[in-house]
Amino acid sequence: LLASYEALRDKRAVTQDGVEIDLFINAGLTIDMDGLEHTGAKGVGLFRTEFQFMIGATMPKVDSQAEFYKSILDTAGDKPVVFRTLDIGGDKPVPFLKRDEEANPALGWRAMRISLDRPALLRYQLRALFLAAEGREISIMFPMIADVHEFRSARSILDKELAWLDRFGKVKPKKVRVGTMLEVPSLVWQLDNLLPLVDFVSIGSNDLMQFFFACDRENPKLAERYDPLSPAALGMMKFIIDKCNEYDVPVTLCGELGGKPLAALGLLGVGLRRLSIAPASVGPVKMMIRSLNLGQLQDYMQGLLSRSDHSVRNSILTFAKDHGI
Ligand code: PEP
Ligand code: MG
Repeated sequence: LLASYEALRDKRAVTQDGVEIDLFINAGLTIDMDGLEHTGAKGVGLFRTEFQFMIGATMPKVDSQAEFYKSILDTAGDKPVVFRTLDIGGDKPVPFLKRDEEANPALGWRAMRISLDRPALLRYQLRALFLAAEGREISIMFPMIADVHEFRSARSILDKELAWLDRFGKVKPKKVRVGTMLEVPSLVWQLDNLLPLVDFVSIGSNDLMQFFFACDRENPKLAERYDPLSPAALGMMKFIIDKCNEYDVPVTLCGELGGKPLAALGLLGVGLRRLSIAPASVGPVKMMIRSLNLGQLQDYMQGLLSRSDHSVRNSILTFAKDHGI
């Protein structure tokens, strides 16, 4: 099977009826970048920058951050990399940042909330990213945005850093694309205000499902309890995707969900066309895509979402079996 995934490396992720699905990989360490070469993915849809911050006793200096990001961009070559700014706190502690004990860390002082309260952290990181670009294009996205005003604040910090480059005569990136993770349900209800402000959106289904079902993503007792392939969850995904299409904003899903072929099938059925997944998932997902007739799937899924019996997963599985996927 592994050999057959490898054989797919240079093949496009196109369905039987000719629809191309864009597959990207998730990465966070230098070694993950090998995945681009091995899988033939189109780029890095999510680069988790926090790992570099979690290992040292002090905050990495701008220079060493920039050197690291530059090595990532160099490795990616012509392929785009979406850098996510620091997503710390919650389950990702950093040694140099003092935090109070929290009863509910997943709901607590984390990610963008820390960055907006400690803007120097974010400013230096953005500076490092811009310097690393050395005139190339760069894509930046913010984690755990819960409200449009948080995106606006983050964006204005980013604009300050761009002005800093100007002031000190540094080379600016050719283009800066700025987007946001969609991980908090409240943001789903602000899409009409958010989408005109962003260049792209990435659905972080790990956190989005955790908050949607009020279900701790780390708790094994709850892992099977709520189904992301239920009418409620898929209905929300469809709502997000339809809105993004309406505003012509590219939408990717970068949570673990997209790496499971059956879940990916359900997501394609509600309109998703871009996935960012673990390198090891690219082969299996691409194989599924290449055996799929998307038109038939979309017809089949019409009506499934209004069901009350939560059997969408089984129905999608039946479709997959009946169609030799
Ligand atoms: C997510 O929440 O789906 C996501 C991709 O971010 P992380 O898993 O790093 O929280
Ligand atoms: Mg997340």
